[in-house]
Amino acid sequence: MIDLRDLYQEVILDHNKRPRNFGQLAAPDRTSEGFNPLCGDKLTLQLTLDGDVIRDVAFDGSGCAISKASASLMTESIKGKTIGEVRELFVKFQDMVMSDTETVPDTDALGKLVVFAGVRAYPARVKCAVLAWHTLRAAVETSGGTVATE
Ligand code: ZN
Repeated sequence: MIDLRDLYQEVILDHNKRPRNFGQLAAPDRTSEGFNPLCGDKLTLQLTLDGDVIRDVAFDGSGCAISKASASLMTESIKGKTIGEVRELFVKFQDMVMSDTETVPDTDALGKLVVFAGVRAYPARVKCAVLAWHTLRAAVETSGGTVATE
């Protein structure tokens, strides 16, 4: 079995240094903002939709390496998915980071996101990892607005 903790560190560093889909969209259909007061992470998420398919996504903001890497990896994972699929992924991601460190994550469903199982070893950082997902949920479930993890 691969060491999730090593992989976690590697992915965090990589996505923090070179965040994917970082910036702003020219004409977003949805915009939402997220804030994690415990750590000070802030992000803005923008989406364009084609029916219920996420056609494009971008994020912007400032925060710790974990929040940024999580947002970066999330944007890669949701592009081209339907809102229904993204909703399922949100639940799976949340279940994974809230589970105990002995629970084997659902690699098939989570794909690359599985590295965030590594955050379970650092419970104080779980909110950093889920911030992007809460912000995404606000963007797809409502017309956007601001969410906070507290
Ligand atoms: Zn943070």
